This record gives sequence, structure tokens and C-alpha cells, in this order.
Amino acid sequence: LSASKLQAAGYAGALAAALAAGVLLGWSPAGRAIDNQFYDFVSGERRDVPAQSVIVAVTERVFRDRGGLPKLREILADALNELAAARPAAVVLDVILADNVNPGMDAHLEAAMRATRNLILPTLLDTEGRWEPPIPRFRALAAAIGHAHHERDRTDGVSRKLSLEIVEAGERYWALALEALRAARGAPIEESPEDVRVGDIVIPAPRVAGVRLMPIRYRAPGVIPTISVLDIARNHDLIRGKVVFLGVTSLSAANDRLVSPAGQDVAGVEVHAQAFETMAAREFVTEPGNQTVFLTCAALAAAVGLLFWFLPGWRAYAPASLVLAAPFALPFPLFHQRNLAFPFLAPAAATWLSFGAAATYQHFVVRRRLRRTESEKQRYQQAIQWAAHEMRTPLTAIQGSSELMARYNLPEEKRGQLTEMINSESKRLARIIQTFLDVERMAEGHMELKREPFPAAELVDATLHRVAPLAERKRITVTLENQVQGTLLGDRELMEYALYNLLTNAIKYSPADTQVRVSSTIKDGTLRLAVADQGMGMDARELKHIFTKFYRTKGAEQSGEKGTGIGLSIVQQIVTHHGGRIEVASAPGKGSCFTMILSVEASSHAQTVDRRR
Ligand code: ADP
Repeated sequence: LSASKLQAAGYAGALAAALAAGVLLGWSPAGRAIDNQFYDFVSGERRDVPAQSVIVAVTERVFRDRGGLPKLREILADALNELAAARPAAVVLDVILADNVNPGMDAHLEAAMRATRNLILPTLLDTEGRWEPPIPRFRALAAAIGHAHHERDRTDGVSRKLSLEIVEAGERYWALALEALRAARGAPIEESPEDVRVGDIVIPAPRVAGVRLMPIRYRAPGVIPTISVLDIARNHDLIRGKVVFLGVTSLSAANDRLVSPAGQDVAGVEVHAQAFETMAAREFVTEPGNQTVFLTCAALAAAVGLLFWFLPGWRAYAPASLVLAAPFALPFPLFHQRNLAFPFLAPAAATWLSFGAAATYQHFVVRRRLRRTESEKQRYQQAIQWAAHEMRTPLTAIQGSSELMARYNLPEEKRGQLTEMINSESKRLARIIQTFLDVERMAEGHMELKREPFPAAELVDATLHRVAPLAERKRITVTLENQVQGTLLGDRELMEYALYNLLTNAIKYSPADTQVRVSSTIKDGTLRLAVADQGMGMDARELKHIFTKFYRTKGAEQSGEKGTGIGLSIVQQIVTHHGGRIEVASAPGKGSCFTMILSVEASSHAQTVDRRR
């Protein structure tokens, strides 16, 4: 039972390790990079939604036609003037205007700004952490100032998110796109720790580590109309009522080139427009918390583990493969129906590693089980051989006696003796069968030993009585050195078998006309019961093996004494099952001494126990 518990614990440990490795992999920088790629693939770019903004671009060609960067403020002033006629809902001018350039040109731009309704101007943090707002003459004309910062993913540089607010140098600015939304909706920006609201639009952007990030849902290129500042006059219908994002898209002049999830180069002004569209269309994507992700990983790993635990062998693979597919498949419905950006790598890695761990583990367990049945078979065969061997002697005696009785007309006295013999030998047979069954159960590990108290003296007397005929045949005297004391607790039949075996061995492996001495000592609740002979003995190397099944020393083989080499292994099993052990001292030609060491209760105490029963 404890072995199977240990096995279950080992299995659970392997799965837990796989889970931990998977989750750590998913949360590593490389894992995040893979998750980002997967997210871009799952989310895709939206095509089928009407745009609520227009990008009005200062393009490469505009610069070429209008005299380049030095003329930018003039270009912008003209654009604003033309836009005013088209009546947009708001204009986000995404150009940093932190310096005075040329009084004439600036006055021109100022006048154009004055004519612009809902003008939103940008500010940026400079490298020293100071805000660079537009110069006062422009600033005074803006409906709002918003920050123009972009987030870039640390692993691949893609701008997937917008920082809704930036608090720095004691000032807080909302993002340009958010200010544009406020202007377009004509509603104030309200905030709670969990979200930011504009009118009835609730942006789920909890402040985490001082930052509110909002994933941007990109539209495919062209979904947000982009026109050149030179084409405003021709596109009044397109612009009317929309939010205009006016900025530089010229590759050489724009100072912020970004990368879209599709891997395309985009100008900063486009990303502001994309973020605005995300908010205006309420396409908010949330990310599950780390705890949710972890629990999902754990559930997947557990599913794989249970399948391999309960389904045998190959049958686990098919359903477990379905679980393997889950981390790939689930993010799609979760994203498109629940707007949940579920990570992919941690669940996938946890599931795959668990699959590997579970499959490997089961493979080895199955192999181990196979090996165990093999050795069980072998052990059973050995036990049968032993039983057959042990039964031969009494069977021969019974057979011989019954034949004598049948064939000859024997005197009454002789018949009585033979009947007696048949009776005692068949009892012995029954005992052997019982011992065989007990030993079998013991080896299988579910033998409940009988636990009854019996006096050690009775055990010794009975066994000595049984071996007496064997000893007589070799004229070996078996002497009991002293009165045996103490009460043993356990199975008397088995203990008798053990002592009987030691005594028969002593007799078997001793020459005729020698002595076998049985002695006992009791000390500190321990009985030492020794059987010493004057026989062939054995050397230290042989001594190491005698408890191994089937082992017989050369001396034993050559002695002509029959044996299987199993007896001692059974004796040892019996003694250890009784909580004891065996010591052997022996030297070639000097005899051997086998000592059983067992715990006992004091005799007097044992007697009271006996009387009570
Ligand atoms: P078996 O007696 O059937 O061969 P056992 O398991 O009882 O098998 O004993 C294993 C071996 O240990 C014997 O074959 C013998 O070599 C050795 N042995 C056991 N008891 C003695 C002893 N009293 N004196 C010498 N050798 C012994």
C-alpha cells in the first residue's frame, strides 16, 4: 500500500515539475515573445468595421512639393485652414511644437489653430524627464494636450498597447487618442482604479504598477482612410464629423517609426488613430490574471495526468492528445467571443511537458510491473519445488507403511505402530501444506501473521521431539543446555518450522557421532535461541549466500545429503516477519552456530496472559 502511495506521489511530483517548467517557460521573455506572435495570429487585423477617424498625412511628396521640413508649420497651417472648412469633430495635430521657429510662420499657424474646433496638441517627455508642451501661443488654443508616447513591446518592438495616461514630473497627461475621444464625444474623462470612462464608453484598463495599458485592436491597412494634406479640399465628405489625425508620415521626416502586429512599418500618427478606433468601437481586449493562467495550466496538466493514470497503456494517448490541442484551440473562441487574450505558451508547455512526463512514467511503471510478475512467477515455481521436496519424505513413509500393512499379516503391535506412523506423517504433510500456503502469503506481503502468545519452551520441546528420529539415525545427540524461558508472540507453526529447519540442517551437515547443542539466553526482553553443531561448517564467503534461495555450499552438495537450498531463506522470512533476525557463526570443519534473536515477554507475565485467555 505504501509502495503504491509512493508511486502516486512520485507521479504527482513529476507532473508538478512539468507544470512548473511549463508555466516558467510561458512567463519567460522568450515565452512572452512567442505568446505575442500567437496573439497577433489569433487577433488578426479588423477589416469589416467603419472608421470613425481620418488620417491626414504630411507625406514624402508633400515635403518635396512644399519645400521640406523647414516649411512644416506653414504646411500644417494651410492644412488646418482647409480642414476647418470640412468641419471634422476634432483635430489631433501630432507634431511637437515646443519651440518658436519663425514669428511669421508661427503667427500663421496660430491663426489657423484659432479657426480649428476641438484642437488637440501633443506633449512628450524629453530625455531628461521634462514635459515638452507646445509653446504658450499654441497651447492657449488647444482644447486639450495629450501625451504622444508609444509603447513598444520589449521583446519584438511591436506597438500592441497604448498607455492611457502618463504621470511624470508632477503632471499627468491622458493619451492623445483618449483626448480625441473626449473631444469627439463631448464627455469628460472619468476614472476608477479599474477603468477609464468617456461618456458611455468604459475602457477596462486597471492601473498596474502605475500604468494603465490598453491593447490596440489594429485595423487592416486602408480601413482608416489616409489622405494627403494636399487632398483635403477633395475629401470634405470623408472628413466631416470624423476625428482627424494630422501628422507626418514621411519616412525621412517622421521621428517615430513604429511596427504594427502585422510587421508593417507605421507612423506614430497612425498608431494614435488605431488606438482611437479601438476605443470608439469599444473593442477592448482583457488579459486573464496570472492566477487564472496558472490554474488553467494546472487543470490541463491534471487532465493529462489523470488520463494516463486511469487509462491503461496506449488507451490514454487518444484522449490526452485532445487535451494537447486545447491550448492551441481555446484562445480563438476566447478572443473572438470573450475578448480575452489568453496566453498560449504556458498552457501548451505545461500540457506537453505533463504529457511527456506522464507517458514516460507510465511506460516505466508498466515495465516494472511486467518484471514483477515475472519474478513472482519464478518465486511461485520455487515454492512449489520446495513443497514437493518436503512432501516426499512423509509420502514415502506413508506409502511404505500402508504397503506393509496391506501385503503382510502383521501382528497387532506392529500394525499399531504403522498406523501411528501413517497418522503422524499425514499430520506432517498437512503442516507442510499449511507452511507452504503461509510462506506464499508471506512472500506476497498480505500475510496477517497469527499473533498468539506461546511459551518458547514448548516450541523447543516439540521441535526437539520431532527431530529425535533423524538424529538417532546418525547417532547424533541433541542436547538442551538449559531451561528455555520467555513467551513468544506470533505463529507457532511457522516458528516450529524455522527451528525444525535449523535442527535438521545441523544434523544433515554433521558427521555421525557428534553433538548438536540447543541453548537459550534471555536478556532485556530478547531471546537468543542457538543451535550449534560440530559439522562441516563453511567459510565466510559461503556464509554470505546461504539465505539465498537455491544456494548450497560445495560441502553440502558433496555430503550426499538431499536439499533444495530453500529452507534457510524461508527460515529467515519467518524470523524477520516475527520482528527478529538470525546470526550465523561458522568455520570450515569447525561446526556452525545459528542463533535466532527474538523479542519475548517474561514467562510469569505470559502465564497471566495465558490464564486470562
Ligand atoms: P538445504 O539444506 O536444502 O540445502 P538450506 O536453505 O536449509 O537448504 O541451507 C542452505 C545451505 O546452507 C545448505 O545447502 C548448506 O550448504 C548450508 N548450511 C545450512 N545449515 C548448515 C549447517 N548447519 N552447517 C553447514 N552448512 C549449512
